[in-house]
Amino acid sequence: MGIMDAFVNASRGVTEKTKNATEVNNLERKIEYEKERIVEVFADLGRKYYKNPEEDPAVLKEFCDDVDNRRRRIMQMRMELNSIRGYKICPKCDSEVNEKFQFCGVCGARLPEDADEELNSLDSSDYYTESDDFFSSDSVKNY
Ligand SMILES: [Zn+2]
Repeated sequence: MGIMDAFVNASRGVTEKTKNATEVNNLERKIEYEKERIVEVFADLGRKYYKNPEEDPAVLKEFCDDVDNRRRRIMQMRMELNSIRGYKICPKCDSEVNEKFQFCGVCGARLPEDADEELNSLDSSDYYTESDDFFSSDSVKNY
């Protein structure tokens, strides 16, 4: 490999890293945005119900669906972040875990293999009722 090749390869590596850093940044910002929106939607939902407890359940359900959609988006973005970083974040305790591991070495939680599995786990109560994370769990009552 000539010295120019080495140089080109090196700068390519740097560009790749910068690109990843930007992507990680964007994803983190978007996740924060969705989290904030979820809090707002919950507030709207509460207000709606407070003003009219007899409100049509279909109207209230729209708010819940909105929250679910945002939670799905957050999970998808988390999976993207994992694959860019090359490690997983445990959904239960937020530890960094080797991408190849199926279980978290810190808390023992089972880690989703891919976005689909993580999305499906939305319906599996054993996954998200035990989580302390407000946004990936229904532990809302604790707040
Ligand atoms: Zn864990």
